[in-house]
Amino acid sequence: MKTARQVLWLLGAVLGICLALTLALSVLRRDPTLPTATAAVGLVAGTLFIFVNRRLQHESQAEIEQANRRSELFEREMRRQREVVDELADGLEVAIFLCDSKGAVEYANRKAIELFRFEDPRGRGILKVTLSHDLEQLVLKAVQERHPINAEVVLRYPDERVGLAKAWTDPNSEDRVFLSIYEITNLRRLERVRRDFVANVSHELRTPMTTIRAMAEILSDSDPEEMKTLGPRYLGRIISEVDRLTLISDDLLTLASAEANPVAKSATNVVEIVRNVVDQLRSQAEAKELSLILTSPDVVIAPVNANQFTQVVFNLAANAINYTNKGSVTVRVDETPDEVVLSISDTGIGIPLEDQPRIFERFYRVDKGRSRASGGTGLGLSIVKHIIESHGGRVTVESELNKGSTFLVSLPKR
Ligand code: ADP
Repeated sequence: MKTARQVLWLLGAVLGICLALTLALSVLRRDPTLPTATAAVGLVAGTLFIFVNRRLQHESQAEIEQANRRSELFEREMRRQREVVDELADGLEVAIFLCDSKGAVEYANRKAIELFRFEDPRGRGILKVTLSHDLEQLVLKAVQERHPINAEVVLRYPDERVGLAKAWTDPNSEDRVFLSIYEITNLRRLERVRRDFVANVSHELRTPMTTIRAMAEILSDSDPEEMKTLGPRYLGRIISEVDRLTLISDDLLTLASAEANPVAKSATNVVEIVRNVVDQLRSQAEAKELSLILTSPDVVIAPVNANQFTQVVFNLAANAINYTNKGSVTVRVDETPDEVVLSISDTGIGIPLEDQPRIFERFYRVDKGRSRASGGTGLGLSIVKHIIESHGGRVTVESELNKGSTFLVSLPKR
């Protein structure tokens, strides 16, 4: 289009020169017909020139508009694709950084910002953003070696976490390196809990089994006369150690079934369950001269698994009696529009502050000797916690050493 307009202007210029020459010639020859003819040709050529020029101008305008529209569409498509990539990267549960070859961050997805709690990391060094030398080294090594590098890294900031990190360079640009971090803190924690649990179970089982074996050996080596005196004593101990093993295995089974979701719940009067458990434990409290008080309305309905809720009330109330030497144990049931609240308070030995966060762990006991002497397995509170959490509720403790403890259980009513 541009060339067509140039040719037109060239033709116009040539015609103009020709007309000017013709006009000059007619003046020199004093010929009157030439100016009239020249003026006529000039008029026709001029009109033609204006018309064609207009047309060409119009067409070139249309072409410019079309090109503008195309580039706008292209830009919009590019923007949309960038948004799709951003959306995709932000939806991933993997932290992603894009850095230059010196480790300055050019892009970070949502998870990366969350993980390192750094508002706008663009333009900052990866070390400054992550406070991890290991991650910085990984990026620089990937740039140097030009192949992907993987490593398990421990991140200390803002909290201690474990991540699987990978750094690799962009095959299309020497100056770009990607870094991804997949958090495996929970996985590592669960592995540790499982290892500890297996070790704890073995330890808990070994103690009664060693006792049983030693006593059975003594009995088997005894002559009939010794048997008469040792027999009743040792057989009694053997029976109580076997009972203890049964108790541990029962608690382990209860814990396993409490962990197996989902629980079958039905609308139940929880006050009735609490009252039955309190009646069951009354003789135990009386034997220690403790007053056992129940304060509750007659009916509070909540969706619970009756067997599991019985176990919760029993474990908490039995603990309150076991760990109280004098005074009272008070059991209360209250309700709010949304929740049922069960509180079990005692005036017992209390729990040291540093132990309070750990008592819901399996086999954790503040005083091993006292727990064993009272027939405890160290599993009661972890069973309570699992059951309550699988009901969508929560359990907390408030306690003061030598003053007493209060365990609070909240359960949703719907
Ligand atoms: P155990 O079978 O040892 O009672 P639990 O899991 O029921 O195991 O409780 C864990 C530990 O928490 C107990 O060993 C005890 O040290 C402490 N504990 C639980 N309830 C109370 C309480 N009411 N008062 C004081 N300490 C308690």
